Amino acid sequence: MKTNVLGFPRIGEKRELKKASENYWKGFGSVDDLVTVGALIKQKNWSFQKESGVDLIPSNDFSFYDQVLDMSLTLGCIPKRFSEVKNSKSQLDLYFAMARGIQEDGFDIKAMEMTKWFDTNYHYIVPEFDKNQTFELFSSKIVDEYKEALVLGIKTKPVIIGPVTYLLLGKEKEAGFHRLELLDKLLPVYLELLTQLQEQGMTYVQFDEPCLALNLKKNEQKAIDSVYREIAEAFPELKVIVTNYFECYGENLKTALALPVHALHLDLVRCQLQLDDILDAEYLNKELTLSLGVVDGRNIWKNDFEDSLRTISKAVDMLGEDKVWVASSCSFLHCPYDLDIETNTKSLPSEVKTWLAFTKQKVAELVTLKKLASETITEELSKKRVANKLANNNRRNSKLVHDQKVKLRVSGLTVKDSQRISGFSLRQKQQKNALGLPLFPTTTIGSFPQTKEVRQWRAKFKRNELTQEAYDLLLRKETEDTIRFQEEIGVDVLVHGEFERNDMVEYFGEKLEGFAFTSFGWVQSYGSRCVKPPIIFGDVSRTAPMTVKWSAYAQSLTPSPVKGMLTGPVTILQWSFVRNDQPRSVTCQQIALAIRDEVSDLENAGLKIIQIDEPAIREGLPLRKENWDTYLNWAVTAFKIASSSVKDATQIHTHMCYAEFNDIIGNIADLDADVITIETSRSEMELLDVFVDFKYPNEIGPGVYDIHSPRVPSTKEMKALLVKASELLPIEHIWVNPDCGLKTRDWPETKTALVNLVETAKIMRKGV
Ligand code: GLN
Ligand code: ZN
Repeated sequence: MKTNVLGFPRIGEKRELKKASENYWKGFGSVDDLVTVGALIKQKNWSFQKESGVDLIPSNDFSFYDQVLDMSLTLGCIPKRFSEVKNSKSQLDLYFAMARGIQEDGFDIKAMEMTKWFDTNYHYIVPEFDKNQTFELFSSKIVDEYKEALVLGIKTKPVIIGPVTYLLLGKEKEAGFHRLELLDKLLPVYLELLTQLQEQGMTYVQFDEPCLALNLKKNEQKAIDSVYREIAEAFPELKVIVTNYFECYGENLKTALALPVHALHLDLVRCQLQLDDILDAEYLNKELTLSLGVVDGRNIWKNDFEDSLRTISKAVDMLGEDKVWVASSCSFLHCPYDLDIETNTKSLPSEVKTWLAFTKQKVAELVTLKKLASETITEELSKKRVANKLANNNRRNSKLVHDQKVKLRVSGLTVKDSQRISGFSLRQKQQKNALGLPLFPTTTIGSFPQTKEVRQWRAKFKRNELTQEAYDLLLRKETEDTIRFQEEIGVDVLVHGEFERNDMVEYFGEKLEGFAFTSFGWVQSYGSRCVKPPIIFGDVSRTAPMTVKWSAYAQSLTPSPVKGMLTGPVTILQWSFVRNDQPRSVTCQQIALAIRDEVSDLENAGLKIIQIDEPAIREGLPLRKENWDTYLNWAVTAFKIASSSVKDATQIHTHMCYAEFNDIIGNIADLDADVITIETSRSEMELLDVFVDFKYPNEIGPGVYDIHSPRVPSTKEMKALLVKASELLPIEHIWVNPDCGLKTRDWPETKTALVNLVETAKIMRKGV
């Protein structure tokens, strides 16, 4: 029996890589500094795993930016627009130029596109393919890293994105071909790479093919099959591991089980039942080793040893001990580093801490599980087993987790709780009367610039260097200035600016029961960007209003309508580490009820408009289509539970950014928000087409101002976008607003842009 780690976090325990790369980009640090920091992180990761007793230690799981971009560089898949950069700059600078774009030394080249890695919050750089795409072994990173570990006396298992997944994750940049047709040109480069690795003495290699978690077409399954057949033929001695994670193999199982590979990896956290199917399968290749992903790489809970041991022994009974590995469910990239450095018991109660395991603790779990399953049980081992049982029992029964009142309320939910009193057209009339807004009403998405000062106040407040009163006073002043500014330029629906919020999920989590927070629980989101997701450990409830103070204060300053501003239940769920002891849908209902109470309180406090942001609804979509309906059903219901308690005259807004709405437009309409604001400016209103084709019935604010760059849009530009929108939608349904919140912008550009935006709305009103 072996222990198998699919990948390790790489940003550094204290985010050293983030700091080093940002310094390098700013021109403060040298290449050597950056490379040294990288080498140290790799060294620490490898040594830690080696000392812990991990058998299959990954290499090439490190990256200076992203593992898919690493692969593009390895395969020489470099978009033509970077040719000059390739000729004149170092490989690392070319790499960063591809990731971030380049605007120096006479270059002005757009970065490559970035998108979400399956259903995680990690973003990868999308490979770009031309019709006549060629490949060559360009970067030697994979071989270099293998050698780097060898020098330390560690023989690693290189982790390489498999050729089919690599192609499927990319995009054709020209018409007239499908990217999978490039496989014949691509495979020889993989074979060359394997030759070089074998020359260095490599025994095991891990090919990640998580496309096996998707609904693959027949020709895609066939491609997988032929790739691994060719590899097996060319390298009969090599021990090839094929991994799939985040989902079951589903209808790809037959393909997977027939592969002539040494080992197949199963994510048994996401798909517990597939082991039975596999062990029963008559076409199971009896030579095959199974890598059992029992330790969760996506979440932070302690493993349940009893449960895992049952699973392991089932496999051992069928296959024998030497054909069973104990593994992480996926790479630990999605987990924080180390629980031991968390010492703030106020944000992470000691009892909750005993239920958790981060990457380092999970590595220890893997090793213990292997020993428990395959060695004579020492006293120390059985102590570990008992301790694990105790911790999990304690969690199951803890008062911190269970709140009967919450459970009762959830079970008492009825259909009526997720329905507004009247249908949209009746509501629309009442809202028009109550609000008296002009045509093309103007508004913003919520946040206004979070200046250095605002962030400093919060930091000082958190360090107890500012009293609550002093902090509130500063924020009130900032809020008042923002209200005055909006009044002055003539925005129709105002916002308070969200200055009191660090982050749209953390802010609510901190005020809700059932949430805990880490101090260093950073997880890479993309490049040097990390997020620190809250931990939902217990039944969620709201003990007091969370936002009413700020919204009511803002409303008290002005006769214009102010929009209350909330984060929706699906987004709060999606951007947190969630409970694994109850379905996500139940946790989501609990959050929805808490938000519902806040909505009622805002209404009672005199807010006539309330916005519930759900930017994450699309990203929560399951990987396999057969699971979409179930998810969309509960997600939409959760939003409606949160939003349906109000009077007809109270207007509910929602906001969604960076989404492709094609697949889910019907469900977006089912949310029945009175107004939806979306991101459309960069796509020249193309994203609106889906709404138009669907005849989306409610009001809609297609963003006319791209807030992702400091560029100020002119009235002419915004007018062109609005004219386009008015040709597509009934004009009495159109709102005028930016694409998203303004918190990352600075005041000067924000002011000019919003003045232009209001001016454009006025022009539109005259024109129609
Ligand atoms: N109300 C939030 C803001 O303006 C919305 C952010 C988002 O959609 N990501 O910041
Ligand atoms: Zn947004």
